[in-house]
Amino acid sequence: MSDDLLPHPATGELFSSPVPPGTGWPGEPATSETPAARTVAQVRRLAGDAERIGLDELDARVSVCRACPRLVRWREDVAHAKRASYADQPYWGRPIPGFGSPTPRILVVGLAPAANGANRTGRVFTGDRSGDWLFASLHRVGLATQGTSVHAADGLELVDTRLVATVRCAPPQNKPTTVERDTCSPWIEAELRLLAEHVQVVVALGAYGWDAALRSYGALGWQIARPKPRFGHGVEAALVGDGRSVTLLGCFHPSQQNTFTGRLTEAMLDSVLGRAAALSRAATD
Ligand code: SF4
Repeated sequence: MSDDLLPHPATGELFSSPVPPGTGWPGEPATSETPAARTVAQVRRLAGDAERIGLDELDARVSVCRACPRLVRWREDVAHAKRASYADQPYWGRPIPGFGSPTPRILVVGLAPAANGANRTGRVFTGDRSGDWLFASLHRVGLATQGTSVHAADGLELVDTRLVATVRCAPPQNKPTTVERDTCSPWIEAELRLLAEHVQVVVALGAYGWDAALRSYGALGWQIARPKPRFGHGVEAALVGDGRSVTLLGCFHPSQQNTFTGRLTEAMLDSVLGRAAALSRAATD
């Protein structure tokens, strides 16, 4: 076994960093047998049969992907080095699958995991300041069972909502390259293919999430207005496909850059997520 075994902060179980697949991490979707993509062609192939394998296996395959050399190196280097304040914890150090309802009416699309947040806890937006803002707001508007998201064993559940990152591995400076974004895109497209029949509203966090939502629905053959709708906080756009319409809602990303400067306030975040909740209820009633 590795010599850097550390106890999970909730369960006390010992893990090395990064966490080997199938070793009991809370919420772990993979096993030691889950096939790992190492090239873009393998990502396309392993994501391509999502309808046959289903969401759980798709999550598992995402969580062991190794197709982007720079990101694999970065996520694992961070997992080994650890931020000083988390030096006593194991780091997940792997890609981050979607989290929340498997039949969501609301899909929230972010950018990429944070190096010391989701890359540490193994759950999207969990364990960083952006997540603190996002989950508190989701709870205030009735879309999460609790307002905090600290680690993957904290019992949090989302209500009719699923969170996904566009790029599933933590990138240096939060900036994936275009090649990395495109390499990862089959994963989000496959997930959307499985979820599309349920989703009524897509909340895009930042312009990156907005473009990813438009691209992913476009890849599924949905109509995207020309010129392409422009991102803005509170902006709404209609996506039409499969004989139905979905509302795309823009929301400033709850990054510290936005929340520290007051560009995004709690009221602004609640307003968009509350609107998403209301639209999804109206579409279902
Ligand atoms: Fe795989 Fe996506 Fe991570 Fe690249 S960013 S290694 S495609 S999960």
